[in-house]
Amino acid sequence: MSCMNPNTVLRNYYGYSSFREGQFEIISNILNGKDTLAIMPTGGGKSICFQIPALCMSGITLVISPLISLMKDQVDALNTMGIHAAYINSLLKEAQINKALQNAKQGAYKIIYVAPERLNTPSFLSFVEAVEISMITVDEAHCISQWGQDFRPSYLKILEFIEKLPKRPILSCFTATATKEVREDILCILKLQNPFVQINGFDRKNLFFQVEHRKNKNRFLLDYIQKHKGESGIIYCSTRKNVENVYEFLREEHIQVGRYHAGMGIEDRKKEQDDFIQDRTSIIVATNAFGMGIDKSNVRFVIHYNMPSCIENYYQEAGRAGRDGEKSNCILLYSGQDSVIQRFLIENKVFNEQDEEISAAIKEKDLLRLKKMESYCQTENCLRNFILNYFGQVTNISCDNCGNCLKVYETEDRSEEARTILNCIYEANQRYGVNVIIQTLRGSQSEKVKQYHTNTYRTYGKLKDVKEDIVREWIYQLIQQGYIRQTEDSYRVLQFGPKMKELKHPNAKVFLRKNEQIQEKEENSDKLNTLQYSLFLLLKETRLKIAREEGKPPYIIFGDATLKDMAKKAPTNTLEFLKVSGVGEVKEKKYGKSFRDVILHFAMEHPEIKPSKKGKKTTKMVPFYLTQEQAKEFLYQEEMTGLEIKGALNMIKSSNCKDFLVKDIADYFESIGWLEKYVVDNHVFLKTTQLGLEHGILNEEKISKKGIPYSALSYGKEAQEKLIQYLISIRKENIE
Ligand code: ADP
Repeated sequence: MSCMNPNTVLRNYYGYSSFREGQFEIISNILNGKDTLAIMPTGGGKSICFQIPALCMSGITLVISPLISLMKDQVDALNTMGIHAAYINSLLKEAQINKALQNAKQGAYKIIYVAPERLNTPSFLSFVEAVEISMITVDEAHCISQWGQDFRPSYLKILEFIEKLPKRPILSCFTATATKEVREDILCILKLQNPFVQINGFDRKNLFFQVEHRKNKNRFLLDYIQKHKGESGIIYCSTRKNVENVYEFLREEHIQVGRYHAGMGIEDRKKEQDDFIQDRTSIIVATNAFGMGIDKSNVRFVIHYNMPSCIENYYQEAGRAGRDGEKSNCILLYSGQDSVIQRFLIENKVFNEQDEEISAAIKEKDLLRLKKMESYCQTENCLRNFILNYFGQVTNISCDNCGNCLKVYETEDRSEEARTILNCIYEANQRYGVNVIIQTLRGSQSEKVKQYHTNTYRTYGKLKDVKEDIVREWIYQLIQQGYIRQTEDSYRVLQFGPKMKELKHPNAKVFLRKNEQIQEKEENSDKLNTLQYSLFLLLKETRLKIAREEGKPPYIIFGDATLKDMAKKAPTNTLEFLKVSGVGEVKEKKYGKSFRDVILHFAMEHPEIKPSKKGKKTTKMVPFYLTQEQAKEFLYQEEMTGLEIKGALNMIKSSNCKDFLVKDIADYFESIGWLEKYVVDNHVFLKTTQLGLEHGILNEEKISKKGIPYSALSYGKEAQEKLIQYLISIRKENIE
């Protein structure tokens, strides 16, 4: 098998036509004999980066991985593709291990997965002396660092093992999560020699992030699940009790779900987990005890019923969606109560054997992390950027692919209500939190109101006809606009914010948003039409049948992305079948006929499923433009952010226009020299130029958490007018 070309391996074994970002660079560096450290986001395709070199080199590659529960799956997946691999860990009996090592000595495997604890055992050491080890791959390499969350002491023994080998093999290390400290630990502890380091960033482009402020979370869940029938998803709750409640609720609504939390017996947990992995139940309600070591690739949504305690946990849990690269949703249902619970948990955390100073420092750090998590739930800005900035990947260009970027809304004059809310805070002497203020404004008879005598205020009951959720939303918006500030201590008291002064002017107006909704993204080419979707469902059934027969998880047979491509291409012969992304030669031989039979049968009843070779007939969407009439509807403001301009433009556009993106504003102003790009530490930013400044584009200089400066842009009236004129002027070009 040696001397194979990586492109040929990719095509013949994996059935993919091209490498993803970074893969080829990593593979070629390894093949040139270089030690490598690669940081790629989950689902970025790390496995291929070491598996392909393993096949192209002579000898054996050892893959050290901490997740023994995953090894079997990974080895199954390789063998299903026709790549000979084995695993060695405590799940096997001694006799099985000896047999595997015996086979390995005779050249039966190119790749062997091994648990770190096994490396320095006498039998393993004598095995590696007898064979050629061409590469050692350290998967989940962050486990070596005590800075990381998943430190594994046994990882520290890897170097000792390598040094015992007769010849030092190439060393390649992979992880999805690595801060600078962790990165340095990996390089230093494992003594990588003159390594090639590839950092692909943390962004998971296929994940759509969304935060919903909901009082009735169950209603949201039910609607969501009904709209996404058959999709696999995880619903995370913060407590076992919530898991039970949500589970019962969904079952009463006749939705088939599983559940998982540490209060259940081991057997029950295992069964629920297996049912989920094997697609026997499509949805699981769980605490954060669920998910470690689960590699299910077709999870289409992760809904957080409660806010987690920090962004690190959130991103890790949400990141279990869409490992196969297919579009998936990560939705967080936020309510103020979540903050109260998390704060309570941190404040009442019990520390064993640690002195008070240390526990106080940990608590303080936890509270800071929680505050960041809350800010995520309350920000109006791009959610993806918020997360990336948190991990030090700073950018101020909106993603146009998250709930906040795609939110469209109208604003309305709520100056009177804003003044009422601020008066209530004034009467409360700036001493109470959101809930007491809301209860007072709505004229509640609650114990708190009685206890604090807020029912004697002049503002008591002034907003009694407004729903609680709406008052809460107004308060959040007033916080974001700077009229109110929320203290950072555990009481989270409402006080006057810096912009409060402006309201003293009797003519000052406050605009708040209404009718928020998330704009549907434009139809994109990877979406299936109704007919293709029906075929996709049949193909899924076929996959499930084969998976049951072979006792494997369905996604090991073919991923969802492959079945979708199959539904679109509707291949009816071997050649066409091999063109489907994710179909390699071995899988074609094994499964091709079963799937083609289904497709042939389907195509007899629906001949139109076969893609026509002639040009496709689709309604053509044209680039964004405005008519004179539409332009009149644009509401100019003193200052607008890119997001606000985008939201306003998409409300008034013609139906055949593509969506207007924040990026379009940047591109236009850059083209006329009012904005320019600059780069700091490999991150691209935009800033206003002298010309831009003269025409009302302002930079607000900010410093990120990591100390990197960046600017937030706002566009004055003159810039808004210039943009609108331009959008009218391009109309002619676009419709011609
Ligand atoms: P990671 O280990 O980085 O989380 P995986 O190696 O499991 O990611 O890959 C995630 C998914 O992407 C798998 O389904 C894999 O087959 C697929 N994949 C990897 N590389 C490619 C590629 N070049 N083209 C298409 N799909 C790919």
